[in-house]
Amino acid sequence: LGFDAILGHELPKRVLRAAIEKGRIAHAYLFHGPEGVGKRTFALKVAAALQCTGAGGEGCGACSACRKVARGVHPDVLLFRLEAGTEAVGVDQVREVVNEAGLRPFEGHRRIFLLDDAHLMTESAANALLKTLEEPPAGSVLILLAARVPGIPPTVVSRCQPVAFGGIPPALVAGHLVDTEGVEPSEGEWLAAFCEGSIGRALRYLREDWGEVRRDLLDRLASPEAWGLEGADSLRTVARPSGSSTSEARARIRSILDLLTLLLRDVLVLASGAGEADLYNRDRAEELLARAEVIGFERASRMLQTVSEALEWLERNVHVDLLLETLSLRLRRVLAEGGGSR
Ligand SMILES: [Zn+2]
Repeated sequence: LGFDAILGHELPKRVLRAAIEKGRIAHAYLFHGPEGVGKRTFALKVAAALQCTGAGGEGCGACSACRKVARGVHPDVLLFRLEAGTEAVGVDQVREVVNEAGLRPFEGHRRIFLLDDAHLMTESAANALLKTLEEPPAGSVLILLAARVPGIPPTVVSRCQPVAFGGIPPALVAGHLVDTEGVEPSEGEWLAAFCEGSIGRALRYLREDWGEVRRDLLDRLASPEAWGLEGADSLRTVARPSGSSTSEARARIRSILDLLTLLLRDVLVLASGAGEADLYNRDRAEELLARAEVIGFERASRMLQTVSEALEWLERNVHVDLLLETLSLRLRRVLAEGGGSR
């Protein structure tokens, strides 16, 4: 119950526990850390703790206030999320937060506002928020959720209490996936490495069947003829399912590149003669060993270098089709050259 029900995040738990115990809740918090590690879930737990009318102090989970927060229907706990199809938090949305913050509580004794994707606020949106941060209405608590702090104006950041969220340790993620999703321990292991400490991402990878993508990448890993333009086509099919936006495509390419990195890193480990104990994809050790024998250490490290360059292109907003073609052509070139293990 309470914060103990949350996986990981020991530091945020300590900070918020102390604030609740001492009755010193800040008017504004900035929860920042990687996408999908559970910042929103944590913020909702904090909101429940603050509205709870039962015993405990961290949210009893049973009273009407706790249940309403959990169902997203508490009139004094408002979650503002990025509107579907938009790529920025605009001034209209922030004005809504500001207006709501001026209202008296309906049921509880405070009003709590969660503003998701705060790092995507436009400049005018941030300006609109500033007045509320400078003169917070009595009893209001604003929690900004942000994947990164750069991008949020320093004037906003300096008026919030920052709470840093890190990734959840891989062993905890793997255990959680085994316990709650019923995955095999070996599957939990590679998913934990792939999701970089983000339960949200791990669940999405499960739902979208990225195990299939990994199988496909592993199958073609050592075959020059499977890359080139044909390889780019099949990567594009994975990256851009019909109806997906550019930002979704970029996120999926990021995942493809992350997967390739994990696989090639394993090939490199095996090609160097190290054992299987440290592999990310331990469940596919046999196939990886076969690939390592074909590719060899030197070519594996050049392929890994190519993938890490592609990650840089992605950061620099290179067009997604061009990126996939260049990546695939380069991988074919490396594989077609000599330099195998023997
Ligand atoms: Zn309660």
